[in-house]
Amino acid sequence: MSDLEEVPLDTRKGRAAGALSVFLAALSVLAVLCFHFPEYLTTPELRRSYDVALLRRVLEATMLAAAVLGSWALLSGGAKRLGITGIGLTLVAVWMGGANVQVGDFEQPKIAFGLDWLVLALLSNTLVFVLIERMWPHRQEQLVLRKEWRLDLIYYAFNHIMISVILLITTAFSERLFGWAVNADVQAAIRSQPVWLQLIEVLFAADFMQYWGHRMMHEHPVLWNVHAVHHCPAHMDWLSGSRIHFGEVLFTRSTVLLPIYLLGFSEAAVNAYVIWVGIQSLLIHSNVGLDFGPLRYLVSTPHFHHWHHSADAEAIDKNYAAHLPVLDMLFGSYLDNKGRWPQSYGVVGKPLPRGFVAQHLYPFIAPPKK
Ligand SMILES: [Zn+2]
Ligand SMILES: [Zn+2]
Repeated sequence: MSDLEEVPLDTRKGRAAGALSVFLAALSVLAVLCFHFPEYLTTPELRRSYDVALLRRVLEATMLAAAVLGSWALLSGGAKRLGITGIGLTLVAVWMGGANVQVGDFEQPKIAFGLDWLVLALLSNTLVFVLIERMWPHRQEQLVLRKEWRLDLIYYAFNHIMISVILLITTAFSERLFGWAVNADVQAAIRSQPVWLQLIEVLFAADFMQYWGHRMMHEHPVLWNVHAVHHCPAHMDWLSGSRIHFGEVLFTRSTVLLPIYLLGFSEAAVNAYVIWVGIQSLLIHSNVGLDFGPLRYLVSTPHFHHWHHSADAEAIDKNYAAHLPVLDMLFGSYLDNKGRWPQSYGVVGKPLPRGFVAQHLYPFIAPPKK
């Protein structure tokens, strides 16, 4: 019997309620901070598209859920500390003003931290992906809070909070270096097409860039030490895919943005692409064992990308595509292995150091190797 099975079901449910209470209450505190300091902690691009009144209602519901779950954890026994922490953090959010904080007009500095983006994404991603990983697990025994989840959460948080910096740098890359190549007639012709066709084109264009950028990182010994950070998790789930060196985030985002910038796709097509990327990048890493049938030849699935992360010899340098496996089929790096899953994940050889800072320094101190 595993350790988990030895814990009485009521206590397990109490712990889950307590953990969820702490999670929701912590997000509530961060959300209240966003309402207090929108000029420094919210993302201008995001703020234009959300309804603040609706978000206040979401915050109220989140605080209420945190308090109820915290009380349940407290009463069920076995999770008292989690229950007290969840209720305590909820009270802090209420004391800070809760959903009623109002501020006047403000000037937004050029760079702001995307705390609002982090809170909204983390809340929705966690609720959706934990649910589907529980419903259709690949590895049933893998816990939600598995080994190194804290490290992956730090990566997730950092890459979301830095959204303004990422947008600023990647946009400058395209505009400053390739602004001369923009052709208004080409862009008008692209924009005159139906949005669904533009979405297919943008997926191809972006994934073509990402495929070769990704392959280059695998094949160049110095670049591999940067990309090895993404390959070092030994467990795969929706959160583990966030482990990406910040240099790689900037490099990949810049190269992917370039064809979008040059070809001038419509806003609707780019928005659809951004939503697609957001969902697929989490899904392909997730601990989901679903067989997508013939769809798996069309779009990258968890099975396809888990093989990319495999440490098994047959899988090394295979399945690079982020969206469309046809790129691997075209360029000779496709591995199917239908119905069979990898035995192990991670980098081959000496493991990487642990920790966010150590892994960011790793490419600068590790000898080039592959
Ligand atoms: Zn890779
Ligand atoms: Zn990956």
